[in-house]
Amino acid sequence: MLPLVGVLALQGDFLDHEAALRAQGVRTRQVRTATDLRGLDAMVLPGGESTTMLTLLDVESLWAPLGATLRSGMPVFATCAGMILLAERVENPVQRSYGLLPITVVRNGYGRQLHSGTFVLESTALPHGTTGTFIRAPRITATGPGVEVLARRNGDPVLVQKGPILAACFHPELGDNHVVVARFAAMVRAHAGQPCHTGRSAAEASA
Ligand code: GLN
Repeated sequence: MLPLVGVLALQGDFLDHEAALRAQGVRTRQVRTATDLRGLDAMVLPGGESTTMLTLLDVESLWAPLGATLRSGMPVFATCAGMILLAERVENPVQRSYGLLPITVVRNGYGRQLHSGTFVLESTALPHGTTGTFIRAPRITATGPGVEVLARRNGDPVLVQKGPILAACFHPELGDNHVVVARFAAMVRAHAGQPCHTGRSAAEASA
């Protein structure tokens, strides 16, 4: 059975995440209720509007159950608004977050819509020339202990990892370069005990 990745689907670009993940050979499930969290191997918090997500998490009584899932040690991929939800400290303005990733983020820290766009990233962990699409993106202004910086934009961290948590200021699920999504899919397979992925399940492979 291929690993199953939950994608928070209250708001934002969860459909693009699902498409990008499926192209990497994992199954996805849209998460809208606590029941949807059962049996997942990993979780994605997509981009969108973090304030709206916070409201909807309360409306759906999902804040606490999602928090338990995120703290369980499974791989978590958080992009843009999703990264804001995970950050230890959120500024501009200060807002509630799960605090699982020791970073400080400033919402809309790269300016608003006019300053959105696609930029070449500085990274030794990603292939040369890898780009990131920034949309009203949060800026990481501080990283705490254990946070590995995998990519930067003009010197600022924009892709970070701490253990099973991978987080990006930009949108790795957009565009035609899914190298960051591929990295997460590899984390998911390793966690689910399927390091030698062929893109097909064992049943399919033997059929
Ligand atoms: N500006 C949004 C927020 O603060 C994040 C933007 C995004 O996810 N693309 O929540």
